[in-house]
Amino acid sequence: MSAVAEKEPYDAIIVGAGAAGIGIAITLQDAGIENFLVLERHTLGASFDRWPAETRFISPSFPTNSIGMLDINSVALGTSPAHALDEEHPTGEEYARYLRSVAEHYEVPVRQHVAVESIGKKQGVFHLLSSQGEFRSKNVIWAGGEFQFPKLNGFVGSHLCIHTSRISSYHSLEGDNFVIIGGYESGVDAAYHLALRGKRVRLFDAGHPWASATSDPSVALSTYTKKRMREERFRAYVELLPHAPITNVSRSDGGFLVTTADNHRVETPVAPLLAGGFVGGHHLISSLFEKREDGFPLLNQNDESTLTKGLFLTGPSVRHDNHVFCFIYKYRQRFAVVAKAIATSLHLSAEDLEHYRRWGMYLDDLSCCGEECVC
Ligand SMILES: Cc1cc2nc3c(=O)[nH]c(=O)nc-3n(C[C@H](O)[C@H](O)[C@H](O)COP(=O)(O)OP(=O)(O)OC[C@H]3O[C@@H](n4cnc5c(N)ncnc54)[C@H](O)[C@@H]3O)c2cc1C
Repeated sequence: MSAVAEKEPYDAIIVGAGAAGIGIAITLQDAGIENFLVLERHTLGASFDRWPAETRFISPSFPTNSIGMLDINSVALGTSPAHALDEEHPTGEEYARYLRSVAEHYEVPVRQHVAVESIGKKQGVFHLLSSQGEFRSKNVIWAGGEFQFPKLNGFVGSHLCIHTSRISSYHSLEGDNFVIIGGYESGVDAAYHLALRGKRVRLFDAGHPWASATSDPSVALSTYTKKRMREERFRAYVELLPHAPITNVSRSDGGFLVTTADNHRVETPVAPLLAGGFVGGHHLISSLFEKREDGFPLLNQNDESTLTKGLFLTGPSVRHDNHVFCFIYKYRQRFAVVAKAIATSLHLSAEDLEHYRRWGMYLDDLSCCGEECVC
């Protein structure tokens, strides 16, 4: 990655070089901000590189840019994963390749293998303590993501399960009979790939996500997944068990004993797979945010901490009212809002961001219609 003129304190430091970190970095450039840096504890796109090998994007990519509509999985104007990868539903590894090519093209200054360990603020300047020493900046954008911070403590014995984010390939899992806990996207994806290999799966969920009628894929299963669930293999090999919250997993002579809230017990020879979601990396700096009732950071209209001026959040943990920004096409809508706020605080005009509006991007308000599809 190219080095820009390095001046401490930086105007902004972005923590994390995933989809959100790279996307917001390019938007900062478009806002005229040059003195910034992206710090990444592993390598650019590391989370995507760690997806199970068989897992693909559920949101489809299509090269629509020529008509002024951004590819749904794009993080930067004028780029398209569909075009770059020749794939409609890329794997994680493919998408990481797209991110690296975009970062290279825009010469995003990424410093890899720098883990940010804590963030403090003294006399208006942020001090980021990292595995590679201290960095100072006027603004910080947290883009640490969720994938590398799985939720592992939802019930007694959950540590005995294998979280789906820790599985490198469903192909390599030993056994013929599986229990999966959690029936939203990751759980169904795991069940699908195991069923394709002729493995029997019992899929438990506390609710009934397979029957949800809402149109919002942050809450209901995607069309891509529903279609896979209709396949013969899935229907033959996967048993769906709704309204069955798991309260306990323990070891037994035959392997593992899984107990539901109504005391129903099933035995499984291999460790249950846990698809129970993520806690997110922002817990590392939770003292710098007020909390919403649901535990997510409370943000002002610019996605800035209400407690710590100059600290912004970007990515899937952004919440406003009842809006969940957990997909790329959702949280990228906030990039220009954050970039404009930082540029304005630095007395830059940010006028080049105006053309984001033509791509349907927000600049200064939430602009969500908040409506669900009616047909
Ligand atoms: C199985 C699966 C399928 C999905 N499918 C889709 C889909 O089809 N469409 C879609 O839009 N979304 C999908 N998502 C969601 C999407 O992947 C996430 O929203 C996206 O990865 C979030 O990007 P991010 O940049 O916020 O996080 P990440 O990609 O996780 O990037 C965060 C980066 O921050 C780094 N980091 C973390 N902490 C620190 C630290 N302290 N110091 C330095 N660096 C740090 C990490 O190493 C990482 O590289 C899917 C998610 C999963 C798990």
